[in-house]
Amino acid sequence: MERVQIAILGGGTAGSAAAYLLSRAGVSTQVLDRPQQPGWKIGEGLPPSSSALFRRLGLWEHFLADGHLPSYGNRSAWGAEQFAEQHFIFDPNGHGWHVDREKLDMMLAESARLQGSRRVAINGLHEVRKTEAGWELGTADGQQLAAEWVIDASGRSSHFASRQNVRRTAYDQLVAVAGLYTAPHDEDQDSMTMIEAVEGGWWYTALLPGRKRVFAYLSDGDLPVTKAVREEAAWQQLLLEGTQIGRLVQQHRYRLTVSPRMVSANSSALSTAVGDRWLAIGDAAAAYDPLSSQGILMALGTATEASEALLAHFRGDPSALSAYAGFLSGMYQEYLSARDHYYAMETRFPHAPFWQRRQQAKRLDP
Ligand SMILES: Cc1cc2nc3c(=O)[nH]c(=O)nc-3n(C[C@H](O)[C@H](O)[C@H](O)COP(=O)(O)OP(=O)(O)OC[C@H]3O[C@@H](n4cnc5c(N)ncnc54)[C@H](O)[C@@H]3O)c2cc1C
Repeated sequence: MERVQIAILGGGTAGSAAAYLLSRAGVSTQVLDRPQQPGWKIGEGLPPSSSALFRRLGLWEHFLADGHLPSYGNRSAWGAEQFAEQHFIFDPNGHGWHVDREKLDMMLAESARLQGSRRVAINGLHEVRKTEAGWELGTADGQQLAAEWVIDASGRSSHFASRQNVRRTAYDQLVAVAGLYTAPHDEDQDSMTMIEAVEGGWWYTALLPGRKRVFAYLSDGDLPVTKAVREEAAWQQLLLEGTQIGRLVQQHRYRLTVSPRMVSANSSALSTAVGDRWLAIGDAAAAYDPLSSQGILMALGTATEASEALLAHFRGDPSALSAYAGFLSGMYQEYLSARDHYYAMETRFPHAPFWQRRQQAKRLDP
């Protein structure tokens, strides 16, 4: 049976960043990830502060080489029909980014590989067995791996933690129905993120590298309107006839090139992100509402904090891991308050279930 110090379940942003950092520090790691799905991965906006994190990781030059688009701020119709602009111009870190997510994740995976981390495609974990020395993992395709530690970086499913019966609390039922458009020319140069609240929830759009533009509708998965927009025609009709941002489609002759698909976008977190010889990072530990544009940053940030905590733990620091757990829960409580505050600013739709739920949440937790 193959042996490593740390097995990392999930090779997205968080898992690859942790593999890179730990391997660079001389720890043997193996990333177990599902086979790569062709197509486009959602989640693209990075705030200006991300540049500091890439510099800290030593990957800033690699990030710059990948042709991501600078983004100069947000434009939102939130609480009013007119759009208000928030520019990053006063941010000491400069502008933000709209990234090609596949390239970003590939750059992190390649950086981990160059540090000696192995990556194996698996079709699920078949067996998880606790031993005195750590864990024995058996994959659905018959591979066996012994690891002293496991990092759960499997995204919102927090697959490893849920197999340890750790509770995951979902704070809402938010889902996104997102599609990708491509323009024939590069005349659309507007790389502000646009956000527009509507009766059933809210939309956002962001320009991406390669003349592409993502449009996503966010609402609660159980609401009838959300179920209806799983149909491509209904989704397009809602975008083109029910929003202001939909005008961009005609204006720049965009064509839908990836049909809308529904993905979970809820706020949810594990009751604890650190257990006996395992810990969780990224969305697996705590997932953020896309409104916050925090997910990628938190994936990188928690990968960094967790890697440093593990290295300190290996050096004999008895409080490093509990400090990591405390850091995570503190951040998440702050985030939940900020999220409630932001939703409470939209008061135009008092009778709409989506907004009523958000106003109620604010009243219950002032
Ligand atoms: C609609 C939407 C818009 C968003 N927009 C933004 C944005 O603008 N800015 C931002 O910062 N964030 C955004 N996010 C959030 C961001 O995409 C996530 O926070 C980020 O992807 C988290 O990275 P991760 O590595 O933790 O998880 P993921 O990127 O989900 O990676 C998890 C990995 O684990 C693998 N995996 C899962 N289960 C298993 C298993 N059982 N075995 C093996 N491998 C497994 C998956 O294949 C995947 O590779 C958005 C999210 C949504 C839903």
